[in-house]
Amino acid sequence: MKRVCKKCGVEKEIEEFVKSKQCKHGYTRCCKKCKCKYVRSRKITYKTRARNRARNKRYNKSTKGKECAIKRQRKIVALLSDTYVKKVIWRHSGLKHKDITPQMVELKRELIIFHRLKKEVLNGINSGGNQRTQAHGQAA
Ligand SMILES: [Zn+2]
Repeated sequence: MKRVCKKCGVEKEIEEFVKSKQCKHGYTRCCKKCKCKYVRSRKITYKTRARNRARNKRYNKSTKGKECAIKRQRKIVALLSDTYVKKVIWRHSGLKHKDITPQMVELKRELIIFHRLKKEVLNGINSGGNQRTQAHGQAA
């Protein structure tokens, strides 16, 4: 009995195919050679992926990696991109991602800008007030 492999398209004896109880004739539609190649390629990709992951982990733990992460985060926060604003809404309101409308994003962005300005002004008043009390203390 002969069969055509689904992968390479070559007609081969049924013994050349991978056995499987789940398949109709007791054999898969893929020959052993192709299956072998597939498994090997998968193994390689898994290996490289694991290696990359380990490298990234090591990098993220290093001081340089941490600095970069902080910089990246600051950039994201400063730019107030749609995704960032959406994330903020999602975190604080409990709404689902698909329920957040562009209008909400716009409003929230303005609110964030407002809060930032407020913070800046308050910080300015606080630090200025401290300086004044210090000056008073020195004078008295
Ligand atoms: Zn094949």
